Amino acid sequence: MAADKPFENLRGQTEEDALSIRPQALDEFIGQDALKNKLSIFIRASQSREESLDHTLFYGPPGLGKTTLAGIIAHEMKGTLKTTSGPALERAGDLAAILSNIQAGDVLFIDEIHRLSANIEEILYPAMEDFCLSIVIGKGPLARSIRLQLPRFTLVGATTRLGLLTSPLRARFGILEQLDLYAPHEITKIVRRGAAVHEADITDEAAAEIGKRARGTPRVALRLLRRVRDVATVRGESIIKLVLAKAALDMMGVDELGFDDHDRKFLRALLELFDGGPVGLSTLAAALNEDTGTIEDIYEPYLIQKGMLERTPRGRKATRNTYEYLGIKPRDFMFRQMSILDDEGV
Ligand code: ADP
Repeated sequence: MAADKPFENLRGQTEEDALSIRPQALDEFIGQDALKNKLSIFIRASQSREESLDHTLFYGPPGLGKTTLAGIIAHEMKGTLKTTSGPALERAGDLAAILSNIQAGDVLFIDEIHRLSANIEEILYPAMEDFCLSIVIGKGPLARSIRLQLPRFTLVGATTRLGLLTSPLRARFGILEQLDLYAPHEITKIVRRGAAVHEADITDEAAAEIGKRARGTPRVALRLLRRVRDVATVRGESIIKLVLAKAALDMMGVDELGFDDHDRKFLRALLELFDGGPVGLSTLAAALNEDTGTIEDIYEPYLIQKGMLERTPRGRKATRNTYEYLGIKPRDFMFRQMSILDDEGV
């Protein structure tokens, strides 16, 4: 979630929050068990020492719960969550305004932290390390530097690209955790929870169907649920059953494997324009008229998980599954067939 204001108090709600009511306690957060266990230990340890939690960085594809976890940390640590994002922090003053308002135990959440500008990062370093804010006021000979002591707070950063974070920034996080795509049974639970929040009746089979097709991503699952619920409303059905869920998902172009039109276009381009690869990411992006970031963050993690794509040092490559899925024969396979026919003198 990218905030367009320099910061907002997350007690306010976005449309997504209002519709999904994010889990507030760690126990309500479904899946990511290894991460949850570790986080629970770190939170309890800092609570018993009456300290703030160490600065934490979450990384992984969008929609997996990074913002939600920042809220949970604030809730568990009994602080307030203040949220902003890398691109929203343009001037040093934006960050200084947030930091000078922070209270002990608060959580400052910076989404897309890899997009912070260099001048903002420089202010952040002493704030993270020594809890002090050094800013320069004025310009030229009249410029003077002021130094403010800050209360102990926790910075929670989120990024889809760990590799784009500068190493000094990365080194200042005490906790670094990756979020992985969810298993279908976990997504099914998230769908059931979402349905309960929406007060929508859904059968277990229908929830499982959405869970299966939601590309391992809670945000996608909740979006599909809302659209399936729309179809149920229009058809006047009070319970979302399997048949209805299947029909609604098919209508949205989301197939049994969870692939949508964008995925199919991507895979088709890989096979038909580039002969299955290997092809460089930027070439593929130009052919699809997409930016490389969208391809890396949104399409690829799920396609790779489903065995439809390989990332090799020479570029992106289709797999046998890709050909089978699209019903296209690999060229070398066709050549082999042709040479067999030649050998047989046909
Ligand atoms: P990110 O910050 O990684 O893009 P969010 O935290 O905004 O993802 O999560 C997207 C949506 O999915 C939110 O509506 C959130 O409530 C829901 N969600 C994410 N992870 C979980 C989870 N583990 N359990 C329940 N709901 C979740």
